[in-house]
Amino acid sequence: MKIITHKDDTIVAPATPPGQSALAVIRMSGSRSFEIIKKIFRLRNKKQPDFENKKFPTVLIGEIFSGDKFLDEVVINLYRAPKSYTGEDLTEISCHGSPYIVQQLLKLIIENGARMAESGEFTFRAFMNGKMDLTKAESVAELIHSESGHAHEAAVHQYRGDYKLIIQSFREKLVQFLALLELELDFSEEDVEFARRDEFIQMLGELEKKMQFLYESFLWGNALKKGIPVVILGKPNAGKSTLMNALTREEKSIVSDIPGTTRDLVEDVVYLQGIPFRFTDTAGLRQSGDVIEQTGVRKALEVLNKALILIYLFDVNEMGAGDLSQEIKYIKEELNFKGKVFWVGNKADLMEMKELEKEFQGKEVIFISAKTGKGVDELQNLLVSEVQRGMLPYKDQMVTNARHAASLGRCLQMISVIKSGIEKGISTEFISSDIRQIIRELDLITGTIVDEDILDYIFSNFCIGK
Ligand code: GDP
Repeated sequence: MKIITHKDDTIVAPATPPGQSALAVIRMSGSRSFEIIKKIFRLRNKKQPDFENKKFPTVLIGEIFSGDKFLDEVVINLYRAPKSYTGEDLTEISCHGSPYIVQQLLKLIIENGARMAESGEFTFRAFMNGKMDLTKAESVAELIHSESGHAHEAAVHQYRGDYKLIIQSFREKLVQFLALLELELDFSEEDVEFARRDEFIQMLGELEKKMQFLYESFLWGNALKKGIPVVILGKPNAGKSTLMNALTREEKSIVSDIPGTTRDLVEDVVYLQGIPFRFTDTAGLRQSGDVIEQTGVRKALEVLNKALILIYLFDVNEMGAGDLSQEIKYIKEELNFKGKVFWVGNKADLMEMKELEKEFQGKEVIFISAKTGKGVDELQNLLVSEVQRGMLPYKDQMVTNARHAASLGRCLQMISVIKSGIEKGISTEFISSDIRQIIRELDLITGTIVDEDILDYIFSNFCIGK
């Protein structure tokens, strides 16, 4: 949407999803919303509601009429500006959840002076009316979209304002120092130094550490939202597709006896103990003469770069401990993979466990049979523990929003520019202007400075009625 709309408009939209349900809620916000209710709603005693001496918020039970025609019995919640979600006069009508009733009710309200809300417009108004800062507005979208306990927890922290407080504390520190620098500039003739550079460097160092922590938390925050990226890698015929099927319990990837059949990437998101994992089944990584397979190799490398976890799958009947050592070296040293690797020996159903343990002793190998499912649960548990361990430091504070992470990244860059600048003795003007840039970046996160494009982007990603 093009976001800056007329403030006097009264907007309306369904707040519940389309389709049949026990109840549906329609939301209306704006200066005319009570006037519209008066026109279409009657109390049970058939009287018009009187809002003059009412205490708000209030709940009314009654009936909706289109002219003389009865439409539905409803419950109405009324909130008086500024004490409402949007900061305006706000009405929520709970009607029966019939698509027909919802449609007729919307039509009636629009005929009486409201217009359909654009996506995110209620929350946008809340933001514009100072009811919430931008991080909170964004967290509303995250709350709605959170599909796991962890994602919900991260959104709740942001919604309750913990994150905003941290950004504000960063800002305060910078503003204090900036004030001293400005004072120096006022007395520039006299060559005084109000702002001690050593103290500032120390403060910057602390700030950098905290920002870096938040910035790194996005690795997990983003993974939680989109699924923890896990790559299943292994030679053709190792059983990657079979494992993927066992993990997802769906027939998504082609299983066949011809080596190299998994030519393209197959992706699937599976929730394990409430954590979303995005498994990607790839072709092998070794070069091959086949053009299609080469494309697969290139894609596999791209996915590998973004993965947090790698499952290296091999056929225990084909590969011994020596071959595995080579593969470990290849993945760790040549591909330089920094995430967690699980070395998984597949087709263990075709060999004696004792023999396997002897062959691979001293190596951390998990033996499974993707075909019979043996050991797959254990592998899933290990995946979950690994993620819980990785996320632990960020439990109370996790950036899940790409926009915030990008801003923090830019702040970090600027901090390092300032630090090296101070070491080289750059002038107060330059330091001051760099600090201003960081403050601006922080203000963009909280929405203290409004960038129309950013607002447009954020709110248009909301659903209608939010
Ligand atoms: P990919 O090329 O790595 O994706 O391997 P596939 O999943 O296509 O499996 C290759 C062949 O190995 C198929 O015939 C599978 O049925 C078989 N296979 C996969 N896992 C196992 C296993 O755990 N035990 C046995 N016996 N066969 C398996």
